[in-house]
Amino acid sequence: MYDYVVIGAGLSGAVMAERIANVQGKNVLIIEKRRHIGGNTYDRYDENGVLIHQYGPHIFHTKLKQVWDYLSRFTEWRHYHHQVLGSIDGKLVPIPFNLNTLEQLLPARLAGELEEKLVIHFGYGSKVPILKLREAEDRDLRWLADLVYEKVFLHYTTKQWGMTPEELDPNVTGRVPVFVSRDDRYFSDPYQGLPKHGYTQMVENMLDHPNIKLMLNTDYREALSFHLENGSFSLFGQPFDGKVIYTGAIDELFDYKHGRLPYRSLRFEFEGVRKPEYQKTGTVNYPNEYDYTRITEFKHLTGQQHADTTIVREYPQPYEPEVPGRDIPYYPVPRPENQELFKKYWREAQDIDQLVLIGRLAEYKYYDMDACVAKALKVFEQQIDIG
Ligand code: FAD
Ligand code: UDP
Repeated sequence: MYDYVVIGAGLSGAVMAERIANVQGKNVLIIEKRRHIGGNTYDRYDENGVLIHQYGPHIFHTKLKQVWDYLSRFTEWRHYHHQVLGSIDGKLVPIPFNLNTLEQLLPARLAGELEEKLVIHFGYGSKVPILKLREAEDRDLRWLADLVYEKVFLHYTTKQWGMTPEELDPNVTGRVPVFVSRDDRYFSDPYQGLPKHGYTQMVENMLDHPNIKLMLNTDYREALSFHLENGSFSLFGQPFDGKVIYTGAIDELFDYKHGRLPYRSLRFEFEGVRKPEYQKTGTVNYPNEYDYTRITEFKHLTGQQHADTTIVREYPQPYEPEVPGRDIPYYPVPRPENQELFKKYWREAQDIDQLVLIGRLAEYKYYDMDACVAKALKVFEQQIDIG
């Protein structure tokens, strides 16, 4: 009955199902344990009629024209450039740390000297990861690096991950490099925005095909069995020999046989506010105060006109699968030893011809949305549509 089963209706699963249905004309069953599609990009109107992102603020940004063009088949865009301010020393200053931040935090002469050094050493427009800046040979630049490290990165990262920047893959803090520029935008990609009618609507458009059947509110294990002993599958109790595209957590699929992969979870505290605007930018980061890392006001992102507004505070949490409220694995934890454990599962998965693993959880990779879409398109071309 079904040629393919896709586990998970997030972006990765949605791209695969859409391609299989539209390009190949084959039948797909998507099994999703939540009550909705979209995975972590899911958005909805809250009780006050404000459009919110249920699993944290999502801003789409990419360098990849192919990805932008692909998604543009399913949505129009609201063009939006995200801006983030950081609460530092009682001031709200631009993040990523840039030349404007420098001027706002330090006395004019010192800021001018450091600015000149940054431009000479790295070039105007360059992006320098904080851990790299700390290795600068110049003493003054190292002094600046230590300041930025302490004020912007150390405490935020400790809150977010329960670890210091050094304990994580350098790419984590490298996502928000010091920017030798006066560009206050959080991302500099050529394509940026939000789906005009929301992510959920975009994913709904992707899945709107008679060959795609969707089972919500169903853990895949209720319908699909993976027989670890011989790597085969059955669907509704019958042997299934089509391809299984799995976007859930890889350790869960293998019944944690090599041990659990660590993840980081979050608690979102939403607050409806009875005024049109709460803060000046989409997001304000709080590296050094409070238990939350950031506050996002959705109306800046979505452009919605409304008399009221809704904000969300993000409280990082340890991931504990058995504890409600801590049971969603939002972030893989990029560290070498976790990568080693992941590889044990990955190698085992490669022996199972029927199985295709993609997405943030199945690949245990700190993917942004565009990278998920790019990967799914590539896997479809190289592993699915090869006939
Ligand atoms: P997911 O969205 O996690 O989808 C996986 C799906 O599989 C889920 O719906 C899940 O319920 C389902 N599933 C899991 N296990 C099972 C099971 N046992 N049975 C059935 N179904 C199952 N990216 C950006 O580009 N820009 C941003 O601004 C941005 N902000 C983010 C903010 C936060 C707080 C987080 C956590 C992520 C953010 N991301 C952002 C990343 C983005 O969410 C991901 O790149 C993308 O959503 C991953 O899609 P996915 O389909 O791989 O995974
Ligand atoms: N980061 C930080 N201070 C900030 C912003 C980011 O220390 O003000 C670090 C932190 O470790 C964070 C990482 O940079 O987890 C990546 O930030 P990003 O905003 O990309 O995180 P995400 O939106 O994926 O949660």
